Amino acid sequence: MSADSTPSKETSNPAVDGSELIRFDNVTKRFGSNVVLDKLDFSVASGKHVTLIGPSGSGKTTILRLLMTLVKPDEGTIKVSGEYLSHEERNGKLVPAGEKHIREVRKNIGMVFQQFNLFPNMKVLRNITEAPVTVLGLSKDEADERARGLLEMVGLTEHIDKYPSQLSGGQQQRVAIARALAMRPQVLLLDEVTSALDPELVAGVLDVLRDIARTTDITMLCVTHEMNFARDISDQVLMFDSGRVIESGSPEKIFNDPEKDRTREFLSAVL
Ligand code: ADP
Repeated sequence: MSADSTPSKETSNPAVDGSELIRFDNVTKRFGSNVVLDKLDFSVASGKHVTLIGPSGSGKTTILRLLMTLVKPDEGTIKVSGEYLSHEERNGKLVPAGEKHIREVRKNIGMVFQQFNLFPNMKVLRNITEAPVTVLGLSKDEADERARGLLEMVGLTEHIDKYPSQLSGGQQQRVAIARALAMRPQVLLLDEVTSALDPELVAGVLDVLRDIARTTDITMLCVTHEMNFARDISDQVLMFDSGRVIESGSPEKIFNDPEKDRTREFLSAVL
């Protein structure tokens, strides 16, 4: 892995000192009368890998969507890297964040979706270089070099000139991971990234993510049903039910000795 192309332990993300990278304070999100997140408080320390587990509909994806500012909280505040995401301070007052502020804070956040979401009309290389050039202002050569390093890391160097439609789902998802990392985000959000894949393609994608978790200092927040993967990479597991964290702890604690019956029931259904 080239130090120039990936968020390596030595060179990037200087904030990895155990400080708080993400903070939700008293966050409530409703869709109509459906209270999806209910006065949620939680934080993620820089460099940690945190996995959100829990039944379908418990609000896990909504947390990632809030961080991507695809939806906004009804109440409460969200901070990323010490900056309000949902709000900004103007004249000493906290007001809902404007687009410019949101764009700046969001540069710290990368996301990989269930459905890859690659640009279908761009080849693999351009899929990865597009945002670093247009958003970060990298030169084409700098962006190309970064992309080539990342493609090597995800094992796709020989596919650099293909269109997404010429790749398997697993390969497309690995391009999506490289594309997210090309922005050198401080945090990588992973939303059920293997659930749209044929079973035989899942392991390759999870291996790439395990490698990233092991060799880089990037903070990860994952929603996954892959419990073995969660056990392997997580520093902390948060168990959700009905929009609240009902239990949290190390993977050993949550998977081997959960305190809550609801956690035990959920795990026995999915393991
Ligand atoms: P999970 O990821 O735990 O399965 P989600 O965060 O996707 O849960 O969804 C939580 C709840 O919010 C569900 O009841 C879902 O139907 C509802 N929900 C999510 N997004 C929307 C939306 N855009 N409009 C209306 N309801 C939504």
